[in-house]
Amino acid sequence: MDQRIGCSEKSTKSVLALNQKMREEADGGKSREEAVERGDQQLRSLHGMADLNNGAVGLYNIGLSCCLNSLLQVFFMNTHFTVILRRIRVPIGHAEQKKNVPYQMLLLLEQMQRSKQSAVHPQELARCLTMHNLKLFVQHDAAQLFLLLWNLIKSQLTDWQLADRLSTLYTIQVQEYLVCQKCSFETRRNSKMLTLPLPMFNASSQRLKTLEDSLRCFFQPEQLTDNNMCVCEQCERKTPCLQGMRLTCLPQTLTLHLKRFYFRNSTGTQKISYSLPFPQSLDFNHILTQEQCHSDAKEKADWQYDLFAVVAHSGLASFGHYCAYIRSLTDCKWYCFNDSSVCQVSWDDVKCTYGNSHFNWGETAYLLVYMRKNPQ
Ligand code: ZN
Repeated sequence: MDQRIGCSEKSTKSVLALNQKMREEADGGKSREEAVERGDQQLRSLHGMADLNNGAVGLYNIGLSCCLNSLLQVFFMNTHFTVILRRIRVPIGHAEQKKNVPYQMLLLLEQMQRSKQSAVHPQELARCLTMHNLKLFVQHDAAQLFLLLWNLIKSQLTDWQLADRLSTLYTIQVQEYLVCQKCSFETRRNSKMLTLPLPMFNASSQRLKTLEDSLRCFFQPEQLTDNNMCVCEQCERKTPCLQGMRLTCLPQTLTLHLKRFYFRNSTGTQKISYSLPFPQSLDFNHILTQEQCHSDAKEKADWQYDLFAVVAHSGLASFGHYCAYIRSLTDCKWYCFNDSSVCQVSWDDVKCTYGNSHFNWGETAYLLVYMRKNPQ
């Protein structure tokens, strides 16, 4: 099976040579930003738009690492992310390099690009992650692991501008509000989220039929009464209130998390495998109401997204397998990254991850990654 997407070995090598050159220039004390900028321009001229060939090499499973492998492929196929990764400062000293997650990710990415094999072993990065208390040989939850990985990358970026860019690329900004039902006093708080955790059921425990329904349900305000009442600053006592969230800013790379796993004391963690279709294109202006959006017209005009990746889980809550379906930003074709194997697939194959309640072992989408149509 051919693992490469779009681009020849020759141009892959020029990317590596270019990286080396960028590093040498930076090490030589010249303006690193200038060198990187120049490198990026050269990359764009080499590949049409950006360094789009990366990631199309598989990653060997080194012991229940399918979840990690899937997430890494989603990171590496996102050129908006790899542009940031390529600008990191190389940590000084062998020991520092060994435990620096972004640096180890960059090395792995370069190893994948350099490789003439169909897959490479991610053991150095895995070893690095164990230094940060990530357990290997255990089944991970992709949503939790994504959060953990992302936080590790962000916290280890020594350049605050890069850390800022990473935040802007991935974080969703919302305004949480609480309205007193007695006096209408409203308390607001701005917060940031890395994923939108979307429900599979509505407040009346009915199945949600589509991703759009699930998004609407997530932004639907909730009545807090009885034991859930909150203290109103104005009434100076506990009152019934309305709690909700308004969307203020959406990132370039938007990660949606379908809450397919739930915990019950009696049965432990269970998986919901019923079908929840998701579209290839999402326009938040058509999904949410004016009241649910707290943003200006210019920002909202860009709230149009294309599906970029699906991290799918097959099996049961306690035991299963992850793989990633990713739409290449170079050739716009879908690929399935299943550990060491990478193959081109169709949209119909991706749709098979909608889920099926009669087939509990089947693949179900768990994380959906959407990409803004117009890059900022
Ligand atoms: Zn009040």
